[in-house]
Amino acid sequence: MTGSTILYGKPIAEATENEVRRRAELLRNRIGRAPRLAAILVGDDPASRVYVRNKEAACQRAGLESHVHRLPTATSEEDLLSLIEQLNGDSNVDGILVQLPLPESIDERTVLDAIDPTKDVDGFHPLNVGLLAQGRPRFVPCTPLGILELLRSHQIDVAGCHAVVVGRSDIVGKPMALLLAQRRPAIEGGPANATVTIAHSRTPDLPTVTRQADLLVVAAGQPRMITADMVRHGAIVIDVGINRVDGKLVGDVDFESVREVSRAITPVPGGVGKLTVAMLLRNTLSAAEARAAATSSAV
Ligand code: NDP
Repeated sequence: MTGSTILYGKPIAEATENEVRRRAELLRNRIGRAPRLAAILVGDDPASRVYVRNKEAACQRAGLESHVHRLPTATSEEDLLSLIEQLNGDSNVDGILVQLPLPESIDERTVLDAIDPTKDVDGFHPLNVGLLAQGRPRFVPCTPLGILELLRSHQIDVAGCHAVVVGRSDIVGKPMALLLAQRRPAIEGGPANATVTIAHSRTPDLPTVTRQADLLVVAAGQPRMITADMVRHGAIVIDVGINRVDGKLVGDVDFESVREVSRAITPVPGGVGKLTVAMLLRNTLSAAEARAAATSSAV
C-alpha cells in the first residue's frame, strides 16, 4: 500500500510568511518601523552561515528588518555578552537570536540565559521554557512550533493519541513532548492532549516503543534510523532529522519504506525544515507586537 499522505512544509511556510507580512505592515504603519530581528553568528561554521542567510532572506520576504552581527571565532564570551546586553537595551530590537552551535570556548547556557526573555524569539531562555512547562507558553522553540502548525494545517488531531518523541534535546525533543501533552493547545485549534513517551539513546528496545506510536516524531540526528518495521500501520510520522549522507540530505526516517506503512509522513528536505524559519518570523512579529502594545499602554 502506498496511500501515505506527504506532509509538505512549503505551502504552510508560505502562508505563514504572507500572514506575517500583512501583520508587519500594519504594525509598521502604527509604530513607524518594521519589526526587527538581531541575529548573532559567531565563527564560520558553514551550516550555521547557511541557516543565518536563510533567516535573513525570509525576514526580507516577510517585511521584517534583520541585522546579522557576524563575529570571529575568537570572540570572547565577555564580548558576546556585552553585545547581547546592548541589544537587550535597544528599544528598536524586537527579537534576538544566537545561532548555535557556539565555539567551544563560549558557554552556550550562559549566553542564552543573558537574552532578554521578551526578545527570546528562539524560546530557549529558562523563563520561556518554564512558561511552556506550566502550560502558558510565550515563545515556543521554532521547530516544534512548526510541527504543531503542520499538524493543525492538516487537521491532525492528536488528543488521546499515543505520541512517541525520539530525542530529548532542549531545542526539539523536550519542547515537542511538552507541547503535545498540553491541556490547552499552544496555538489556537492546534494539537494537544496526547499521551506522550520520550525515547532517547538509553531507551532499551526502541522498536517496541516506536511501534506503539499513533504519532511518531523523530529528532535524533541519526540518518534513516527509523525503518518500516519500527512503525505501526497507519501512524503519522514527523521526521525532524537533517543529515548529510554522501552529499545528500536525508532524515532520521527511512522515507521510502516508512511511507508504505504510515498514514502520513513528512519528507526531508521539504517537510519540517521549511517551517522552522517561518515560525521564527512569527515569533519575531509577536515580540514586536507585544513590545508595541506594552509601550502604548505605558504612555
Ligand atoms: P541532539 O543531538 O541535541 O539530540 C538528539 C537526541 O536524540 C538526543 O536526545 C539523543 O539521546 C537522541 N538519540 C540519538 N541517537 C539515538 C538513538 N540511536 N536512539 C534513540 N535516541 C537517540 O539533536 P537535535 O535535537 O538538535 O536535532 C535532532 C535532529 O534534528 C538533527 O538531525 C538536526 O539536524 C535536526 N534538526 C532539524 C531542524 C529543522 O528545522 N528541521 C531544527 C533542529 C534540528 P541522548 O539524549 O540520550 O543523547
